[in-house]
Amino acid sequence: MTTVQSARGPLDTADLGRVLMHEHVFVLTPDSQRQWSDEWDEEEQVANAIVKLNELAAQGISTIADPTVDGLGRDVARIARIQAEVDLNIIVATGVYTYCDVPNFFAFRGPGIIPGLDDPMVDFFVRDLEEGVRGTAVRAAFLKCAIDHHGLTPGVERVLRAEAAAHLRTGAPIMVHTHPGTQTGLEVMRVLGEEGVAFERVILAHSGDSTDAEHLGSLAEAGFLLGMDRFGIDATLDFESRVAIVVELCRRGFSGQMVLAQDAACYIDWIDPMFKGALPNWNYLHVLGDVVPALLERGVTESQVDEMLVGNPRRYFGG
Ligand SMILES: [Zn+2]
Repeated sequence: MTTVQSARGPLDTADLGRVLMHEHVFVLTPDSQRQWSDEWDEEEQVANAIVKLNELAAQGISTIADPTVDGLGRDVARIARIQAEVDLNIIVATGVYTYCDVPNFFAFRGPGIIPGLDDPMVDFFVRDLEEGVRGTAVRAAFLKCAIDHHGLTPGVERVLRAEAAAHLRTGAPIMVHTHPGTQTGLEVMRVLGEEGVAFERVILAHSGDSTDAEHLGSLAEAGFLLGMDRFGIDATLDFESRVAIVVELCRRGFSGQMVLAQDAACYIDWIDPMFKGALPNWNYLHVLGDVVPALLERGVTESQVDEMLVGNPRRYFGG
């Protein structure tokens, strides 16, 4: 039996069931939120999240992987409270989310003071993975970082290398937010390759924002898992295109290297409430409700869907 940590404790990877590999519960900017907005009501939002996650469980999803780390308003104690009330497993991550600089907290620590000093991030990540997240009994099960169209800035590189080090110490897999339009997956390949990370343990999140089958196929051939994980964000790429690239990559033999999700949240404070109505499909129920039927209609088989929702997540978490 291979176990993976979740917010309800260790689970057998054989029991993960259907997994949405990239869903947030909340994405928040607590410092700004506190200054400028009355939108957040803790009790109301927690109650709403419990309802939405139980709807998702009733639809047939057994597990979500929540890559909400430092920089996205992470609060694992709140997740643990929600986990106790919902019928699916929530797997939490550790890491730092930035497109540019490291958070100021890290600016003048470790290599931020003297290049070459050990990075305190590594021990923090390992503690989250091996002992538990501060103030909770919950252990993180994967590492999350980001590289966007700004490319490999010094801050992004520092986080990526720290996560590689934590991965090598713990075996926890890595998820990297990428920007496939500028092929930042290639930078991930270079840096993680230098660090000795096996690409089979790495998800390149947001690969599904691209329709470039050649580029994505080459990343899959290198071993990476591709996150086809933004279904419902139709303003950046429409539904038909998001479906079509998954169909094409399945046709090319890569169903064993894709995972599906929506990158949705019960509440995200990054978006003006006025515009939230513009993305009606951006919710937890879209993948099973609309995407999977569309894939099946276009020739993807049930067993390929099972690979993307069950087998590949299980393998990623070590099963
Ligand atoms: Zn995300």
